[in-house]
Amino acid sequence: MKIVIVGSGYVGLVTGACFSEVGIDVTCVDIDHNKIDNLNKGIIPIYEPGLEDMIVRNMKKGRLGFTTNIAEALQDAEVLFISVGTPPDEDGSADLKYVLAVARDCGKHIKDYLLVVTKSTVPVGTSAKVKQALQEELDKRNVNIEFDVASNPEFLKEGAAIDDFLKPDRIVVGIESERAEDLLKSLYKPFTLNGHPVIFMDIVSAEMTKYAANSMLATKISFINEIANLCEIVGADINKVRKGIGSDSRIGQKFLYAGIGYGGSCFPKDVQALIKTASEYNYDLRVLKAVEEVNKDQKLVLFNKIMNYFKGDIEGKIIALWGLSFKPQTDDMREAPSLSIVKNLLEAGAIVKAYDPIAINEAKHHFGGTISYCEDQYETLIDADCLAILTEWPEFKFPNLKIVYKLLNTPVIFDGRNIYDADEIRESGFDYFCIGIDTAK
Ligand code: NAD
Repeated sequence: MKIVIVGSGYVGLVTGACFSEVGIDVTCVDIDHNKIDNLNKGIIPIYEPGLEDMIVRNMKKGRLGFTTNIAEALQDAEVLFISVGTPPDEDGSADLKYVLAVARDCGKHIKDYLLVVTKSTVPVGTSAKVKQALQEELDKRNVNIEFDVASNPEFLKEGAAIDDFLKPDRIVVGIESERAEDLLKSLYKPFTLNGHPVIFMDIVSAEMTKYAANSMLATKISFINEIANLCEIVGADINKVRKGIGSDSRIGQKFLYAGIGYGGSCFPKDVQALIKTASEYNYDLRVLKAVEEVNKDQKLVLFNKIMNYFKGDIEGKIIALWGLSFKPQTDDMREAPSLSIVKNLLEAGAIVKAYDPIAINEAKHHFGGTISYCEDQYETLIDADCLAILTEWPEFKFPNLKIVYKLLNTPVIFDGRNIYDADEIRESGFDYFCIGIDTAK
């Protein structure tokens, strides 16, 4: 089978690489010429463990190609996946202009039956709009070509995307025809042989499932962060509380880590978009509005702790930051808590020195010359007045505390990800602040 993936970002590249890995003939399309030129040279625009090897291997086998020419890519293709971005509009709703542009491109160029599958995260009703946009182009051409639409939201996690795609918890597919169901069943067969289920449903339910899933995860994070903030006030320890509640099988241990808020390209925009969808139907999603509000405040909890420690004056203080990406194993900084924290630190007159194992190039796009970038985590500490941990990269988990102590001007650590044991750090002579434990006592 020959398939086309339109949009060669995180989702498109992982989807394309994984389908080609199981022997399917894949063409990835993007409008970004520079990205496609680089991909054709084997240069991968994002950091995702295992992705580069898989792309290069399948390119060499001739099963994976890259182009900016969608008309050419569509030759003999039976299925096309839309995996372009759906960034938030000014009012929080998902901007569908890229998705609908692809639908129109399909309408302009198809010659035979095509199944158009929306993999981008899109609000309820989008597949109907995709269908309409494509049909309008066929009508303009005055041709009668059969096509189907389907919804197949993507649940991969950046940093573990390949594994998530190859061994998914589930694959959700919304269809409205048997032909579409059969095609997607056979396409996904290699990934479901070991019992990973494909859940078929109607298109609207599939579109809703993606938003409900991300909103649930964001809710867990804001919930535990609120409980953490209260723990600090009442003298409880969030780590103990987490273990205590997580051992209830109805609650579970996962996704209950207190920190400095969720970020990334999905949770913030998907929560916003679902709130907007609800309001369009005159329904007020109160829980999700609170989730968003808590998250916005949580991104500043660490900054506030730094300000308190230095009695409200950090002018000229040098702040060392470990970690800038929104989570480990990715260079993605979209909506990362580091963006809010750095902005506030700079506005308060502090000098920022930062290290991240992967995201430095990405950080340069965001901060330019306003902060300094270090090659190594210990280099950030030279002459620094404190250390703040913003991302829980594994390499930050067991630092040489003697070196950290020696290099810092003031031995104080602000741990936004609760990666250290408070007692151990304090026994090494540091003042230590984290989330959800009152360590000032
Ligand atoms: P991205 O920004 O990394 O990539 C999108 C790509 O689409 C870009 O390369 C862009 O140039 C290209 N593009 C835009 N318009 C185009 C057009 N008309 N024709 C061809 N290419 C076009 O986005 P992403 O992170 O891969 O996300 C894509 C979608 O998948 C979004 O809806 C997102 O919400 C969803 N999603 C993302 C993740 C994730 O972890 N990144 C996970 C699940 C779902």
